[in-house]
Amino acid sequence: MATKFDVIVIGGGPAGYHAAIRAAQLGMNTACIDKWLNPAGAPAFGGTCLNVGCIPSKALLDASHKYIDAKEGFSDLGIQVADIAIDVPAMIDHKAKIVDNLTKGVAGLLKTNGVTALEGRASLHAGRSVEFTPHEGETTTLEADHVIIATGSVPVDIPPCPLIDDIIVDSTGALELQSVPKRLGIIGAGVIGLELGSVWSRLGSEVVILEALEEFLPMADKNVSREAAKQFKKQGMDIRLGALVTGSSVKGKKVEVSYSDAEGEKTEKFDKLIVAVGRRPYTEGLLAVDSGVNLDERGFVFVDDHCNTDAPGVYAVGDVVRGPMLAHKGMEEGIMVAERIAGYKPQVNYDTVPSVVYTHPEIAWVGKTEQELKASGDIYKVGNFPMAASGRAMASNETVGLIKVLADEMTDRVLGIHMICAHASELIAEAAIAMEFETSAEDLGLTMFAHPTLSEGLHEAALAVSGHAIHIANRRRKQP
Ligand code: FAD
Ligand code: NAD
Repeated sequence: MATKFDVIVIGGGPAGYHAAIRAAQLGMNTACIDKWLNPAGAPAFGGTCLNVGCIPSKALLDASHKYIDAKEGFSDLGIQVADIAIDVPAMIDHKAKIVDNLTKGVAGLLKTNGVTALEGRASLHAGRSVEFTPHEGETTTLEADHVIIATGSVPVDIPPCPLIDDIIVDSTGALELQSVPKRLGIIGAGVIGLELGSVWSRLGSEVVILEALEEFLPMADKNVSREAAKQFKKQGMDIRLGALVTGSSVKGKKVEVSYSDAEGEKTEKFDKLIVAVGRRPYTEGLLAVDSGVNLDERGFVFVDDHCNTDAPGVYAVGDVVRGPMLAHKGMEEGIMVAERIAGYKPQVNYDTVPSVVYTHPEIAWVGKTEQELKASGDIYKVGNFPMAASGRAMASNETVGLIKVLADEMTDRVLGIHMICAHASELIAEAAIAMEFETSAEDLGLTMFAHPTLSEGLHEAALAVSGHAIHIANRRRKQP
């Protein structure tokens, strides 16, 4: 095995494998080291995202959505389905197959791009020297001109609720349940809590989510979070805000959780409990004292806007650095760093990172929320479009939700686009492209959208910014 590389990437999750493949495409001799072992004990590239994150959770979200739609939605369309049943082990098996295919796919992509894939643990020492310990075998020292750290994140655990077998689980355990819990408790009404709560609620669990904050989905635009709270309540998810979990105890096969809210101390019994209170950057055993890389006060690897660490020639990308913990943000950082090493000058535009919550309806946004604009004193205009007024939404029985466009009052430049509706995860790409190209609401309004589509909702919301929407009563009326 070679011991000298142009680039060594530590971590083969989305941030790391994108960096490695792009570096190799640009002609650099690149290695990517990853220590992940799948449940069968085999090395698996792809990190959290492919193994226990984005992909497996979406496999369960899509399967459970199809199930509930067949059970409760199809009859509205004149489709009668009898004897609908859910086979949880088969659903989990389907998810495992997708994960297996994709993780093998990443290993294949590394190979075909000429990246040396090394399976085992790495640590970084002074002068970009990397100690590599394979899963089986001796530690070797590798050298590189450039090192990219992409070691990701792990779930936060909280002292009141230590994980216990398959009764108190984190997001990884929640993707492996083999039957539908009768009563499911979830701590944290963040993205994971809502997505996994949706999966098990659709399959028949009585879901109670305990959230410490008084406000629901504070990072989303207020109109969207209000609509989301209404829809999740209708779906039967019991979301309790201002509920601070103080303890848990397992009695037989049940878990009792104690929490305090404005009314005092309370307890609840569940068959399973999912702890989904956030993720933290992962750097355990990574940095030797002489590595020259510093962490910030929250444990993230400290980097500048171009992902340079404090050590020359060492970069860090993805969940292990500041910014949203999203796979696509890490991928773009990985590509940016590889290209900057090769002498190009790309930037990541952190103002246009799209966010999606894969519930039903889906929630998605890009740019600033109305409450952020208010807080920063920006003067803005708003265009809203209710999906109930969309012909395509009516045709497909998906009329819940809205699309909202926020634009600067003076320049008309779009500052934020927010949506809660079916297929928002796809529609948000149009919004991100528009914002990346610094669109005005008028530009969006002048663009032709295919009819009939849900995308027309974005067109109408953009027109509504200046009172020109066709399919709703406009509040502001202005001459063109
Ligand atoms: P990771 O994916 O965490 O990969 C880091 C890799 O580094 C791991 O493979 C690890 O084994 C390896 N590693 C760590 N230390 C070492 C070492 N010392 N030596 C060798 N290897 C090491 N994001 C989205 O954008 N969309 C979603 O829909 C979404 N859904 C999610 C659902 C769940 C349930 C979870 C938990 C997360 C989800 N995320 C989602 C977040 C997403 O998974 C992360 O943002 C993304 O995986 C971060 O990528 P990364 O490459 O920075 O780190
Ligand atoms: P999160 O930060 O989204 O939500 C955690 C929630 O738990 C917060 O609302 C927090 O107030 C609450 N909380 C914390 N401590 C608590 C306590 N003791 N009692 C009650 N509530 C408590 O974190 P997450 O949902 O765990 O997700 C982790 C990361 O993974 C997120 O940063 C997210 O970006 C990423 N992720 C993304 C997607 C997606 O893009 N669709 C899906 C899943 C995860």
